[in-house]
Amino acid sequence: MPAITSFTYTANPSRVVFGSGTLRQVASEAERLSLSRLLVLSTAPQKDSAERVAQLLAGRTAGIFSGAVMHTPVDITQQALEIMSTSGADGIVAIGGGSTIGLSKAIALRTDLPQIVIPTTYAGSEMTPILGETKDGGKVTQSSPRILPEVVIYDVDLTMTLPPALSGTSGINAIAHAVEALYAEDRNPIVTMMALEAIRALYEALPAITIDPSDRAARSAALYGAWLCGTCLGSVGMSIHHKLCHTLGGTFDLPHAETHTVVLPHALAYNASVVPDVIAQLRSTLQTEDPAAALYDLAGKVGAKRSLSDLGMAESAIDEATTRALANPYWNPRPLEQAAIRDLIARAWRGDRPSADDNGGRSNIKDA
Ligand code: NAD
Repeated sequence: MPAITSFTYTANPSRVVFGSGTLRQVASEAERLSLSRLLVLSTAPQKDSAERVAQLLAGRTAGIFSGAVMHTPVDITQQALEIMSTSGADGIVAIGGGSTIGLSKAIALRTDLPQIVIPTTYAGSEMTPILGETKDGGKVTQSSPRILPEVVIYDVDLTMTLPPALSGTSGINAIAHAVEALYAEDRNPIVTMMALEAIRALYEALPAITIDPSDRAARSAALYGAWLCGTCLGSVGMSIHHKLCHTLGGTFDLPHAETHTVVLPHALAYNASVVPDVIAQLRSTLQTEDPAAALYDLAGKVGAKRSLSDLGMAESAIDEATTRALANPYWNPRPLEQAAIRDLIARAWRGDRPSADDNGGRSNIKDA
């Protein structure tokens, strides 16, 4: 039995409505919040979904803004804010993935208006009080209770159209939140419980979705896992995996979920030797001897790219990536060692399968 020592746990207060057909509850959720004029947000490709939400809201719609794009640029937020103001909106409904939810959070940060968020991917942003925005080519990340959505409606039906490839990488992006929560500096038993349950659910569901994207039970399990992963992300600090993906994505313009999918096995292998308790938990949850290799194999099962080179990063960029990864030191269970970090990035670039023997340049994982 793991030892329970002292810890601090902060719950993020949000209401979660989960199930099939729950989208229909959007009007009653708006009523619960006493909102009568909601601006509906989406990306351009998901405008149809926004129109459906507007219909369901009946007389409570202030309009639709379908201009959400990746990385939450501040100028798009300004456009949406102007519509908020001229339409007299008193709340926001966001339907979509992390990009649309980012716009919703950016508006809430500036207006403190309530948000009803309806996620359609597994990214997990809806459960965090964190916002990343871009301005003049730079990304600024901040945290505030204003950013956390008041209500999250998870409707499994909306995820049925998520393409299998995006389902796989989005789901592994979610698993990364849970894996890093297990060895977070501020980890605690509640978050650990959620993280292991989330990893178990997604590890089983994602290959099933690849085989049959209309498998409703697998879709439900994946969305449930994604919710828990988002809660982990919003509750404890992240380490080398998230920092590295942030650096790689921002510097070399690599795609978000795909980059997470490539890097995760290597980040876990890097930390494995110093977190033997976490490796033991993952072995038990994944029913495997080598969790890092199992996550690499999972990426293969969902048909994801497994190398940074396949994502378009040049080999000559490995040194710059290493320098940038070490530029702003942060907490990680294993100290940031330049040669080993370079090795991690080089392995991810080549797409090597982590092995119990390399263990990120450390002693044998089997002894962990
Ligand atoms: P996304 O929101 O950019 O969506 C990807 C594409 O898939 C879009 O074109 C979208 O319209 C489409 N799409 C979404 N759901 C669909 C569905 N069910 N069916 C068909 N198409 C669908 O991608 P994402 O991976 O959800 O989010 C990534 C962004 O979220 C990144 O910018 C990342 O930084 C951010 N994020 C933020 C946090 C946080 O806590 N702040 C957490 C995770 C991710």
